Amino acid sequence: MSNCIFCQILSKEIPSYTVYENEHVYAFLDITQVSKGHTLIIPKPHVKDVFEWTPDIASSMGEAIEKVSKALKKAFPNMQGLNIINNNGERAYQSVFHSHIHLIPRFPEQDGLSITFEPHSPMYTQEEMHAIAQTITQAF
Ligand code: 5GP
Ligand code: ZN
Repeated sequence: MSNCIFCQILSKEIPSYTVYENEHVYAFLDITQVSKGHTLIIPKPHVKDVFEWTPDIASSMGEAIEKVSKALKKAFPNMQGLNIINNNGERAYQSVFHSHIHLIPRFPEQDGLSITFEPHSPMYTQEEMHAIAQTITQAF
């Protein structure tokens, strides 16, 4: 897709720092570097978000997540943890609409990432939780 930044990175029109590549995916340093080694993994076909993934894309992305995560751990022995984040849609903070996974290593020092999970208020009742799960289950 010609006006997509990540497609332009794939075609080398825009330079990037390669971390990993195979036939199906490309991994490169996020320009922002929320922490050292902050990496993006993208599928080579232009798909907007997870809702456009095919089973093949899911499989190759999953494989790459495992590989790159382990390489980051080996590369940075003082890494204390790793956040794997995928944003889908503007409401979910997606800003580049070529699907991508963020791998954000966490070190002892402070970095630019904060994630909070505030519980729904009021809490859902057991009946509501059951109904929510059932609604999703029926959507497969
Ligand atoms: P999103 O908010 O869509 O999940 O994340 C998009 C990410 O792409 C941001 O973290 C941003 O720093 C990164 N990004 C945007 N433009 C470029 C670019 O031209 N090169 C690289 N390497 N990263 C980019
Ligand atoms: Zn694209």
